Amino acid sequence: MDIQEYTGRDPALERVVRGEETAWVNPRFLPFSATDAVCQLVVSDADIRDAAGRLQRFAPFIEKCFPETLPARGIIESPLTEISGMRDKMQRTYGCHIPGRMLLKMDSHLPIAGSVKARGGIYEVLKHAEDLALAAGKLRPEDDYSLLASGGMRRFFGQYTVQVGSTGNLGLSIGISSAALGFRVKVHMSADAKQWKKDLLRSKGVEVIEYADDYSAAVAEGRRLSDLDPMSYFVDDERSVDLFLGYTVAAGRLKAQLEAMQIPVDGDHPLIVYIPAGVGGAPGGVAYGLKRLFRDDVHCFFTEPVQCPSVLLGVATQLFEGANVRDFGLTGITEADGLACASPSGFVTRLMTNLLSGEFTVADRRLYDDLRMLYETEGIQIEPSSCAGFAGPRGLLACRESARYCRDHGLDGEKLSHATQIVWATGGSLVPEPVRQEYLRTYLS
Ligand SMILES: *Cc1c(COP(=O)(O)O)cnc(C)c1O
Repeated sequence: MDIQEYTGRDPALERVVRGEETAWVNPRFLPFSATDAVCQLVVSDADIRDAAGRLQRFAPFIEKCFPETLPARGIIESPLTEISGMRDKMQRTYGCHIPGRMLLKMDSHLPIAGSVKARGGIYEVLKHAEDLALAAGKLRPEDDYSLLASGGMRRFFGQYTVQVGSTGNLGLSIGISSAALGFRVKVHMSADAKQWKKDLLRSKGVEVIEYADDYSAAVAEGRRLSDLDPMSYFVDDERSVDLFLGYTVAAGRLKAQLEAMQIPVDGDHPLIVYIPAGVGGAPGGVAYGLKRLFRDDVHCFFTEPVQCPSVLLGVATQLFEGANVRDFGLTGITEADGLACASPSGFVTRLMTNLLSGEFTVADRRLYDDLRMLYETEGIQIEPSSCAGFAGPRGLLACRESARYCRDHGLDGEKLSHATQIVWATGGSLVPEPVRQEYLRTYLS
């Protein structure tokens, strides 16, 4: 492949394929009104409302199976918290200016799965269970869904298998929720998957199949094996619309949290969001939902490891799922296991083509610096993948491309001083203590 044909004369893309930390601004980004009609044809506001309604119907079941969700009455949601200590420390350490308020969206602490995957993954399993139960006449939409937790229903679901390919967190989310319903579960895990994630899954009775190969290979083999079995359902991270819909519901919940904190988002108070991307589903769904609600008042950036910027390359080159970081001379290897996807979702890279503001790439060792800094300043520990979001506020005004984006979109000093910047923490609360200690020491020199 002729790399230069794709990077053109774009200096930011040249830095991306050299594996350097950089900001990339999306040249295909459009005002919201120009994207509205086409996007609604793919995922409409009604689809998102339907997904939110389904999670509401399942709340009595969730509450019954997972007592940790009792305080929130079976709604799986995470805290939004201001991290001014981290903001100050980042400014001092990196010599950068971080305007406005800086908040952490703690999907790292979502109940049940301890990662953003508790949104999309659990949603898709619940929807599949609902489809099966409705079709078999064992459930009516107006029923109290806690009846799904009965022994009879568990035996019913026990005839079926749910399978998924995962680098770890999606497997945890699908595995734990499927097992709660009574499904048989098989998780196909790539070489990047951390040992503790495999151990945790096995302890929940989940069958873990390990591959020496990368994520795409684990997904392809899982998909193939599942397709051979008529009683099996495959959760397809690279293609699933249901998974995506589960993530979009985050936006309405975040809006309510911002309102409760009396933080405005409007023409004078921009919202800037930074979300780590693997295959693109989670950040894509969250960002898509946010764009539908806040339109031009929200600016969504994804963040990816310097050696694995697959979503960035998929969108920038318009090769979509055909983009593979190795074809661009990168290794695809990163400590950020949740982001180690060499090729992106074709669905998400297409849908986000005109909605994504840009991306920041981040070096592995920086993930650990930020992990330590967050722990020291705020007492919050998250996993390395989840720290990629900090590249956003650090780079926004420091990188030439993103600083120009701010100028081009009316984000001047005055307006930015009223901005809210949200770093999306995507995982971490299930990390076992010894692994946490190891993370705090990694790349310490
Ligand atoms: C899965 C994951 C992501 C990214 O989600 P994708 O849907 O793969 O883009 C980010 N952070 C963590 C911790 C994850 O587990």
